Amino acid sequence: MKTRILLVEDDLTLREVLKQSLELEGFSVDSHSTLAGARAAWAYHLNTPRSPSNLSIVIVDLGLPDGDGSTLIRLVRSQSKLPVLVISAREDDVSKINLLDAGADDYLVKPFSIGELKARIRVALRRQSPDHHASTDEIHIGALEINLPKRQVKRLGERVHLTPTEFNLLARLLSQAGQVVTHRQLLNDVWGAEYVEHVHYLRLYMAQLRAKLEVDPAAPELLLTETGVGYRFCELSLPAE
Ligand code: CA
Repeated sequence: MKTRILLVEDDLTLREVLKQSLELEGFSVDSHSTLAGARAAWAYHLNTPRSPSNLSIVIVDLGLPDGDGSTLIRLVRSQSKLPVLVISAREDDVSKINLLDAGADDYLVKPFSIGELKARIRVALRRQSPDHHASTDEIHIGALEINLPKRQVKRLGERVHLTPTEFNLLARLLSQAGQVVTHRQLLNDVWGAEYVEHVHYLRLYMAQLRAKLEVDPAAPELLLTETGVGYRFCELSLPAE
């Protein structure tokens, strides 16, 4: 069965370009221009979960003629674990953070390339796949070998000593490799709920991790900054073509 996408975008040109490009990639696309249409499609999906309409991912624009796309994010998140990607013209960090904290998996700011969108879809779908966790016990990326159960990291074959907090931060980012994780999510999950405002902890620990893991800590390739929002561990591998 084809991977089915619920696409909500009111800009006709963009909607058609995205639909055609994604269909060329082998996806099946159910596209809508309004929140009402998307909600109806979502309700249909929930009521017929095993039919060929079975959805794999939701891609939603925020500015819609009859409301805000974030309404749909909350609805989908309250009823399922389906990945949700946001495509938006909004550049402000606060709304991005709110969307991620509301349960969106990732966002793309317009204009973006189809290649970027495909990469984000790939990451989101991989996280949903049942063998995701089994396949990520040992991670090889560049010069790094990371063994999550043993909590060991090697760089160019040599053990790298990480403090428990450094390792926990790395593991948290790796659990969503390829996706942005907000400051609040990282602080909550690594340090605890009472530390969610302590963004300076993150800056300090990210600098330490980069110094230990990156070839050039000043130009990181693994531990990427999403300015004003959070951090992203790079995508672990490209798919087999
Ligand atoms: Ca719009």
